[in-house]
Amino acid sequence: MGCSAAMALTLPIYLDHNATTPVDPRVLDAMLPYFAEQFGNAASRDHAFGHTAAKAVTEARQQVASLLNCQPEEIIWTSGATESNNLAIKGIAAGHADKGRHLLTQATEHKAVLDPFARLAREGFTNTILPVDARGRINVDQLIASLRPGTILVSIMLANNETGTLQPIRQVGQICRDRGILFHVDATQAVGHVPVDVQTDCIDLLSLSGHKFYGPKGCGALFVRRRPGLKLLPLLDGGRHERGYRSGTLNVPGIVGVGKAAEIAQAEMPQHSQRLSALRDQFEQTLLCEVPLVTVNGDLTGRLPHTTNLSFAYIEGESIMLALDDVAVSSGSACTSASLQPSHVLEAMGVKGTLIHSAIRFGLGRSTTAEQLDYVAAKLAKAVYRLREMSPLYEMAMEGIDPETVRWPDGSH
Ligand code: PMP
Repeated sequence: MGCSAAMALTLPIYLDHNATTPVDPRVLDAMLPYFAEQFGNAASRDHAFGHTAAKAVTEARQQVASLLNCQPEEIIWTSGATESNNLAIKGIAAGHADKGRHLLTQATEHKAVLDPFARLAREGFTNTILPVDARGRINVDQLIASLRPGTILVSIMLANNETGTLQPIRQVGQICRDRGILFHVDATQAVGHVPVDVQTDCIDLLSLSGHKFYGPKGCGALFVRRRPGLKLLPLLDGGRHERGYRSGTLNVPGIVGVGKAAEIAQAEMPQHSQRLSALRDQFEQTLLCEVPLVTVNGDLTGRLPHTTNLSFAYIEGESIMLALDDVAVSSGSACTSASLQPSHVLEAMGVKGTLIHSAIRFGLGRSTTAEQLDYVAAKLAKAVYRLREMSPLYEMAMEGIDPETVRWPDGSH
């Protein structure tokens, strides 16, 4: 790519769309009237201010329901996917504890699933956390073997937030349906990016969050199937909004935004996903051709179209990030990177040594262009060559010594 094209680029470049997305201008336009002009409380039944707000909420419910292929009444508004996951997992555990106390999930879930499971384990429930293979996928036979008469809930994410790996949700849904076990899916990274159908996938509860698909932050939803025997206890006590599942005055502008974002995603998904997966594949190919020892973390046969997670052997992700000073990417998951712990997702996939510490997630989005990716690939390739020149680990590896087997004087590997 020529210098002039690079100079025309607007910097910094945002490649962290799995962390969050900008609000689509059409979404913002739809939301704006509901802050100051149409400010009514959707629960006010006695005047037009309330009716206008309630009508907007009803429309948004229809828009989200249409995206998921469910009934509008099955959508419960929440503050986002963290709340949706907590409500689904804790609410079902509390509602079904008399039928059994065994819950099942898998190792690469978001902390907003794993931590509620951990809390329930402290409260006397029994958990099975399924392992994943090197691509990040669960084994369905192992899932079947782990189910027991007291299993009340299975929670498996649709798309992983660090690698984009898709789980075999349809198969798991059918297995749960056949056995009368409730099935929750954290679809936060998938909704609006890949098709989601709660009917064909036999899903009973599904979490989503507006800010992952060009809607606002702090507003999401939980799909709760109207199904005889399903008992979800609320986390919050109060005015019994949302079929009693989630008390609290509705965030009308946020809800309108999530609805509009869902409508746009439904109309434009094929076009965006085709364009972004082609751009992502080209970006990966460029790097794999130009830089030695680059690996792709995730399932190449079933991934989100806009996500790639790459490891650069023998260097630290943090130093690559410093070199990419005008590019917004994420080392590990943005949600837990504050802890500087190696990613639990890559660990569960068996990624080791410098490969785990050098992993970087690139999240493409609607505004991403081929020119931006050419710029990032060229800058990245240069940085990796430079950092490897200074890396004793790389030098060792080139001399035929496996750095993973070296024990340093302080006892570390
Ligand atoms: N689940 C997954 C898979 C996610 O990626 C996220 C956001 N990083 C969440 C749950 C939490 O979503 P929210 O930000 O809406 O609380």
